[in-house]
Amino acid sequence: MSTEKKDRLGMSSRAVHAGEPRNHYADAITTPIFQTSTFVFRNSDEIEEYTKHKKERFEYGRYGNPTELIAQNRLADLEGAEDCVVLSSGMMAITTTILSLVRTGDHIVITDDSYKKTLEFCRSYLKRFGIECTIVPFGDYDALEGSIKSNTRFIFSESPTNPYLNVFDLKLLKEIADRHGVITLIDSTIATPINQRPLELGIDLVTHSATKYLAGHNDILAGAVMGRKDLIAPIRNLHKSMGGLIDPHCCYLLLRGLKTFPMRVERQNDTALQVARFLEGHPDIQRVYYPLLESHQHYSIAREQMKGGGCVVTFEMKGGIDEAKRFMDSLEMIFIGPSFGGAETLITHPATVSYYDYTREERYELGIIDTLFRLAVGLEDVDDIIADLQGALERARR
Ligand SMILES: *Cc1c(COP(=O)(O)O)cnc(C)c1O
Repeated sequence: MSTEKKDRLGMSSRAVHAGEPRNHYADAITTPIFQTSTFVFRNSDEIEEYTKHKKERFEYGRYGNPTELIAQNRLADLEGAEDCVVLSSGMMAITTTILSLVRTGDHIVITDDSYKKTLEFCRSYLKRFGIECTIVPFGDYDALEGSIKSNTRFIFSESPTNPYLNVFDLKLLKEIADRHGVITLIDSTIATPINQRPLELGIDLVTHSATKYLAGHNDILAGAVMGRKDLIAPIRNLHKSMGGLIDPHCCYLLLRGLKTFPMRVERQNDTALQVARFLEGHPDIQRVYYPLLESHQHYSIAREQMKGGGCVVTFEMKGGIDEAKRFMDSLEMIFIGPSFGGAETLITHPATVSYYDYTREERYELGIIDTLFRLAVGLEDVDDIIADLQGALERARR
């Protein structure tokens, strides 16, 4: 198929075909897993073609692998990016991207609602190398603009965020960044390329934890960064030195997961909205956070910027810690565990898991109350998910 024709395909077709030559080794229909660490030269002429004449080919596993290359091309296509690097985890994508951009004496800006480990990396590790970090409250665009200095290199944020699904106005972010000539980075993991298109709004670099929706089966860890070729090239180069490589078998599983990615996300968008409405109407529920519920503080930005609300629904029960534990312990189908975007519906209880080492006062200051839950709907039937929640809520009251 011509490139031009391929460009006109829809997201589901591209999720199956993009970024891959039509003819595979041995005419296999699936992408071969090139389980090799090295690629051989037939003779000295081939070495010369590679070194002197810059012929593109594979040489050593850390510098590239055909299965990895196809995964990178497919993800670039789905995000609408010129180029993409696939790495061993979402954190590897974030840290490698940041390190490729900064040098001693630089200043960076990050919003306070960011992923815990991203914040820790910016706040603690970068400081050791003389990189100053300002953390601004999410949603305070004046504070954000006010924090920019002459040595500010980039602004990093997420949209939507975890666990309250706050939505960043990406157009406004782009305007602010342009006024000061700084680079913009968005962790778009919770949105996916189906529900949000940051690059089309002018954002410079997008990162994903491909562990979540992109792979989609709770079976691998992977990460990706996408953007313009000139910004991706130094990230790829640093990646080859850092060595946080993803292995070819993981790339295969990522490509396999991607084939159903658009269908899965559309289904999860539908299910999550129904579950959010059910919870909002339930007498034992105090509050629900979902970007496409009219009650969400960023509903209007979400409506404008997002095609769907995604699979994460956060809610607060009425009652206290005992009711919360009884509810969690009464679930029959839904698993208790971190992550989201996979086939299985998962629930987490931030107060006893991610914030177990905070005092109750510290947690409450952040809004992490005893009865807060983050639900990540999977691919099960919506009626079964709702029935499981309803049954557990009933048993929690007793
Ligand atoms: C999970 C997650 C990460 C980290 O990704 P890993 O693949 O676990 O390293 C980063 N950002 C967000 C928003 C995430 O949900």
